[in-house]
Amino acid sequence: MGDKTYRVLLYYKYVHIDNPEELTKQHLKFCKDLGLKGRILIAEEGINGTVSGTIEQTDKYMETLRQDPRFEDIEFKIDEADGHAFKKMHVRHRPEIVTLRLEDDIDPNDLTGNYLEPKEFYQLLQDENTIVLDARNDYEYDLGHFRGAIRPDIKTFKELPEWVQENKEMLEGKRILTYCTGGIRCEKFSGWLKKEGFEDVNQLHGGIVSYGKDPEVQGELWDGKMYVFDERISVPVNQKEHVIVGKDYFTGELCERYVNCANPVCNKQIICSEENEHFFMRGCTHECRTAERNLYIEEHGLTEEEVQERLRKIEEYEAKTQGV
Ligand SMILES: [Zn+2]
Repeated sequence: MGDKTYRVLLYYKYVHIDNPEELTKQHLKFCKDLGLKGRILIAEEGINGTVSGTIEQTDKYMETLRQDPRFEDIEFKIDEADGHAFKKMHVRHRPEIVTLRLEDDIDPNDLTGNYLEPKEFYQLLQDENTIVLDARNDYEYDLGHFRGAIRPDIKTFKELPEWVQENKEMLEGKRILTYCTGGIRCEKFSGWLKKEGFEDVNQLHGGIVSYGKDPEVQGELWDGKMYVFDERISVPVNQKEHVIVGKDYFTGELCERYVNCANPVCNKQIICSEENEHFFMRGCTHECRTAERNLYIEEHGLTEEEVQERLRKIEEYEAKTQGV
């Protein structure tokens, strides 16, 4: 700790931006000139970004952004890193800074859930009448989550409202706690929950990232790792204990390693050990293993014979485990 020369910044701010197209262009140039890499979304409703750079570059970025009155109180979550966490620098203009596509949009400045600081969240987490709802996607939950949290069966954030409507009885009459990576998804989602008639709606201020860094709670009651949308893929949260909850896609063994299916058309994210990646040629199904392109086969220069040999072994394994 302390000897790393790079940083990853995570930040957002819901604030009205008059000419988002113009700011998008200016901001891209500014970031590129600084040498940052990352992904920033700009909309009329605000800014949402995660960027990596050296300490000097990120200092300069934060200082400059805060000089803009619209962003003077923006909160940056800072992670130390060994290098860039992105390959390129993108700044994009979007209708929303997190895609939720509500029919009736919500401005979190007008309507949002009660903010809980890490300590309060930690305490309420252990309360009987509390229901903890993960506001992230299923593959994020699968790698790590708060102990006892509910896992919505969703692939993207915009599916969450419908999931709630279909599972309403689970939440009714309860104190609801929601959380996400940095807090941004909960801003609108918790507002939406209130609009739907849920009364006791609370959100983790600063998200899991702040919870893990909080000097007092130190990420306690978080199990597994936290999925991140950059090249690091996952980062630790709980500084007190590390309970693995991720399960190998193929064997169900405890595992925290994410890879993408080698069939580029599928590209599904699967948790799998190095051993199983080799054994299953990183294909999530037989179809993906034998697809027109399999990046694993290309990367390892496997001959047709070698592929057939592996497929035969997989078949043997599957026959054995399925008891056929
Ligand atoms: Zn696949």
